Amino acid sequence: MSAIDSLPPLREVIATHDLRAKKSLGQNFLLDLNLTAKIARAAGDLSECDVLEIGPGPGGLTRGLLASGARRVLAVEKDARCLPALAEIAEAYPGRLQVIEGDALKVDPLAHLTPPIRVAANLPYNVGTELLVRWLTPTEWPPYWQSLTLMFQKEVAQRIVAQPGSKAYGRLAVLAQWRCETRIAMELPPEAFTPPPKIRSAVVHLTALPAPKFDADADVLQKVTAAAFNQRRKMLRASLKGLAPDIEDRLLAAGIEPTERAEQVDLERFCALARAVAGT
Ligand code: SAM
Repeated sequence: MSAIDSLPPLREVIATHDLRAKKSLGQNFLLDLNLTAKIARAAGDLSECDVLEIGPGPGGLTRGLLASGARRVLAVEKDARCLPALAEIAEAYPGRLQVIEGDALKVDPLAHLTPPIRVAANLPYNVGTELLVRWLTPTEWPPYWQSLTLMFQKEVAQRIVAQPGSKAYGRLAVLAQWRCETRIAMELPPEAFTPPPKIRSAVVHLTALPAPKFDADADVLQKVTAAAFNQRRKMLRASLKGLAPDIEDRLLAAGIEPTERAEQVDLERFCALARAVAGT
């Protein structure tokens, strides 16, 4: 019996259901239920919340979330091989786990969720970054979720919390810190996973602010930061020249010298630039 619930240990679950990790799906499983319970605690008080979990795999984090008292968990998993293992968890927590088989980039989970909603996931890193950008850039704010607790490659986690002037500062920092409080909740060594990945990982916790820190249009801010950091060593008047013929004037209107580089520009001035580019 494992420490946090009456279900079999995850190694046994993986052997029973023959869940050999597939590299193509970015599968590095967390098998230590004390660790998954700790990640679940980092997600905050779940007792009144529906939790959206992306990529439950054999269900280590899912069990952590349920044992931590999540009202309900909605789990979206692409790999059909994991469904029988997840069905056993659903049986152990009647009415509290719903599993959708599908690609998280295509499935719309909202219809199955009741607010308040929190998101928790240990995802392949490429899918994680794409989902993060989507979660951060809806037109309306606040979003449907209260917080995101996500496992990332440590370098990506550092990019989310980075400050201007640092090497890690870029589009992710601007988009995340514009509308959220961000912090690294914990770091994990490769040995925490089966099989161990080559890189270190970190869990980032993002809490949605009631309103963005500065006014800007999400699409325009995305475009501006993508162009600015795509050629981060160039002066902004060069990297942004495709955005508007009079980009130098718009940079100046936002309080930015056209010769500055993207990593010197803080969030407030990026938002001012997005407003100047949008012509508002
Ligand atoms: N959450 C489990 C854990 O912590 O042990 C598994 C983590 S593993 C890094 C990533 C999981 O995401 C795998 O189960 C994989 O099948 C699933 N996955 C990969 N791409 C996905 C996608 N586009 N949509 C939904 N799930 C996906």
